[in-house]
Amino acid sequence: MIFRQLFEPVSCTYTYVLASRRGGEALIIDPVLEKLDSYIELFNRLELRLVKAVDTHVHADHITGLGALRDRTKCITVMGRESAVDTVSMRVADGDSIDIEGVRLDVIYTPGHTSDSYSFRLADRVFTGDTLLIRGTGRTDFQHGSAEDSYESIFNKLLKLSDETLVYPAHDYKGETVSTIAEERAFNPRLQVGSADAYAEIMDGLDLPHLKMMDIAVPANLMIGANQLASGEECSLSVADVKKQIGRLDVVLVDLRENAGRRRHGVISGSLHAPYPDLDKFLAPGGVLHYEGRTGGKRILFYCAYGERSALAVATSKEAGLANVFHLLGGIDAWAEAGEPIEVID
Ligand code: FE
Repeated sequence: MIFRQLFEPVSCTYTYVLASRRGGEALIIDPVLEKLDSYIELFNRLELRLVKAVDTHVHADHITGLGALRDRTKCITVMGRESAVDTVSMRVADGDSIDIEGVRLDVIYTPGHTSDSYSFRLADRVFTGDTLLIRGTGRTDFQHGSAEDSYESIFNKLLKLSDETLVYPAHDYKGETVSTIAEERAFNPRLQVGSADAYAEIMDGLDLPHLKMMDIAVPANLMIGANQLASGEECSLSVADVKKQIGRLDVVLVDLRENAGRRRHGVISGSLHAPYPDLDKFLAPGGVLHYEGRTGGKRILFYCAYGERSALAVATSKEAGLANVFHLLGGIDAWAEAGEPIEVID
């Protein structure tokens, strides 16, 4: 198991890199834009292939590295379904899992610091974002924060994890690196309360200063898909355009999502399944997309959940020598929104 806790000193942010082995797939939690080069260097040194970049919530104190990492590595971006960001590849909800080779994160919805805050549990540890900090908790006075929700998330979700569970937060301002659930229950001054009301009283009385970076960071962090969508416009098709092409013998419709997303939201009938993390294999000689697109000269039409993975897949396919590739703008989300038929699978 590869586990790295990386620190960004300006916003005191911790970023985590996880992988099951050297040379394998990697996942990053809460990357900071300014540290992008150092992450890439780490991946290169450990021969890791970044496949997923996850933010615990829309950050107000730094600009996320999610969009830039996606553009550099073609990784999948992941956030909670409540996050008001323009584009991510995958949205998760309480009870879901985020999987890469040899690593599974359990998704726990922990609103309170913000309405889109999530924690992620990995076997013996939990990444708590700004929900639970070491001897502190995330402020609840902006971005739809709520002291009552924070209390619920901490007391009824995080503190229910086993005592030995290691707590890895998104920030620490005093140089602490890790704690445990038992330690926080016993020593976190904000958790020595008997009710949500008592907790809310503490939180409401904090009188915190306005965050300097907030007016810059929040708008930037809500627009992480903008660059990528603008660059791929000529290969983007609307729902109506895709509808006209479906069923044609010279068109191959390809679903890039993972099985969990396909089961939850259904599929467009007649589509082939090529999960985005394995796209290279499908495009290599012997792969079905190589056969249909290059040998057979057919048009490849990608779709995913929201149109991010499919836009990346268009770029990857062109690099692999396919000329006739397009994608559904807005993904199956836009398709369903337009009232087009969805096939349920199990
Ligand atoms: Fe935060």
